[in-house]
Amino acid sequence: MSAYTSPWMNDDLAIFRKSVRQFLRAEFLPHEDRWRAQHHIDREAWLKAGQAGFLLADVPEEYGGGGGTFAYTAVVLEELGYAPVTSFGCSVQEIVAHYVLAYGSETQRRAWLPRMAAGEMVGAIGMTEPGAGSDLQGIKTTARREGDHYVIDGSKTFITNGWHADLICLAVKTDPAQRGARAISLIMVETKDLAGYRVGRTLEKIGQHGQDTCELFFDGVRVPAANLLGSIEGQGFAQMMEQLPYERLLIAVSAVATMELAVDITTQYAKDRKLFGGTLMNLQHTRFALAECKTEAHIGRVFLDSCIERLMAGTLDTATASMAKWWLTDKQCAIADACLQLHGGYGYMVEYPIARIWADSRVQRIYAGANEIMKELVARSL
Ligand SMILES: Cc1cc2nc3c(=O)[nH]c(=O)nc-3n(C[C@H](O)[C@H](O)[C@H](O)COP(=O)(O)OP(=O)(O)OC[C@H]3O[C@@H](n4cnc5c(N)ncnc54)[C@H](O)[C@@H]3O)c2cc1C
Repeated sequence: MSAYTSPWMNDDLAIFRKSVRQFLRAEFLPHEDRWRAQHHIDREAWLKAGQAGFLLADVPEEYGGGGGTFAYTAVVLEELGYAPVTSFGCSVQEIVAHYVLAYGSETQRRAWLPRMAAGEMVGAIGMTEPGAGSDLQGIKTTARREGDHYVIDGSKTFITNGWHADLICLAVKTDPAQRGARAISLIMVETKDLAGYRVGRTLEKIGQHGQDTCELFFDGVRVPAANLLGSIEGQGFAQMMEQLPYERLLIAVSAVATMELAVDITTQYAKDRKLFGGTLMNLQHTRFALAECKTEAHIGRVFLDSCIERLMAGTLDTATASMAKWWLTDKQCAIADACLQLHGGYGYMVEYPIARIWADSRVQRIYAGANEIMKELVARSL
């Protein structure tokens, strides 16, 4: 996409990138319009991604993953961004896998990770509820211990991969009497033939139409007590906080890839579009607008690369990951908007990629912790 090469790239990653790109062009891009229309990808797309070896790219091989570093996952997300394919909830699959990897017992890891890597099991994260998003301590879904089971009651909303989900990393209150973070635990819920579990509506969104974002309902759902994540109850909130830098960096990776794509396609469009006896690109306003977008995308790339290197070195702190999430997604939206404007009326037409980029980008500032919450986390570190 530009003369600059990320310092974490190497020859192996370049080969991996090429194979991901070829795979997406052959197997995903031709279906993207249909997936957007039906509001979910085909089930077999998960299996194909698993067979191609780009699910759980940074999970150890002994659990069925690719055995690579975070850079491999970054390459997958970048290529999805460049394609662009936004229907595939790959980030959530990675996030769920990392919860299992970090807090799961050996039995849990072996039960779920190989199947997730193969695309046989689709993961979802169930945190948000109608009454609790940013304020996660306010969740109302409960898990009551009954013998060697938990009985779960409650509901979740806005759940990515909700329609396909086979394995949900579910935030619940195991001790509702307890106030604050210690009331919350994470329980892994396998949905197959699960009595009392129901997938509600696939929600109509303003973008990312191909993703199955759903409501989920739990009515006396019985889950083995052995599905608790971690050895004791009450660790869920701390586990979520600990995993957030990883999750936020995934969002940041796709933000930068999308900015780079937006600048590239708009530059080409401006060079092709004829007006006033020349091209759109001849106008100084266009040149300056694109120069600004290109500069900001490059600054974003360099900052992101520093975060990726720090994550791989185990030194990425919450505040810096939060900076990356808010700043890069804000810039993503600003650049998408500026680029759409340069397309004129065509920018408002869904058949033009910039229109989709603009609509698909907007939610990046909201999910995985709204950007205002990110600023709060940065401020706390001051
Ligand atoms: C497409 C999509 C996919 C999603 N996928 C998932 C998923 O897979 N799993 C999941 O669990 N959730 C998911 N979410 C939910 C998402 O994480 C929440 O929407 C988000 O955390 C915000 O919560 P909320 O919507 O309840 O907004 P609220 O928490 O009600 O916030 C409303 C506004 O108030 C601001 N605000 C809140 N608290 C503060 C504060 N302390 N200081 C300053 N401002 C504040 C927010 O930034 C926001 O602007 C998804 C959401 C969308 C739209």
